[in-house]
Amino acid sequence: MYTKYLESSLKEEDAVYVEDVPAGEGWLHLIKKGQTFRILDLEGNQAVDTLFINANNPEERYSVQQTVQRQANCLVGVGTVLYSNDDNPMLTIAADLCGDHDTLGSACSCESNTCRYSLDKRYMHACRDSFLKVLLAEPGLDKRDQVNNLNFFMYVPFDEKGNLNFADGISSPGKYVEMKAEMDVYAVVSNCPQLNNPCNAYNPTPIRMIIWD
Ligand SMILES: [Zn+2]
Repeated sequence: MYTKYLESSLKEEDAVYVEDVPAGEGWLHLIKKGQTFRILDLEGNQAVDTLFINANNPEERYSVQQTVQRQANCLVGVGTVLYSNDDNPMLTIAADLCGDHDTLGSACSCESNTCRYSLDKRYMHACRDSFLKVLLAEPGLDKRDQVNNLNFFMYVPFDEKGNLNFADGISSPGKYVEMKAEMDVYAVVSNCPQLNNPCNAYNPTPIRMIIWD
């Protein structure tokens, strides 16, 4: 199990990188081994779909299976180690004000919008499009690097039978999750544009990315 809440001692003014990602946009950045990476939910209730890829070997990526199995918990919080498909630690959650981040809901897509909601939702902006756009812009990365992702700040309660529910979020303005890189990784983010379920409170909002040495 993990610790639910732990405040960070790091200050934004000491960071080496600060950038806001607008609502619905993608983002990709290198996080070097030993650096600390924070995602700040500026306005609250915003799902942040995230992939991690080994920057020195893109065939090694964040693995939901290894991560869930290792900690025997489907939820992510302080102390969770995010493992790769090669069973190596990629990042460790060092601070968190939200808790219960989702590993199972994965990313929204044009296909899932069509199946879950209606045929005319097919052309709405979706996370899988945002992921693809930023992956293809980075030399050496490709469509195949889009695997099952982690959803920071997204609340997906599940029952004993494994039924999932995309519920209204539990994050609020100013909540953040912070992690220390255990290897050089590309963090790949889709700041979810979903408008058909309450994961963003039907109102996608910007997030802030902060990195410390
Ligand atoms: Zn999405």
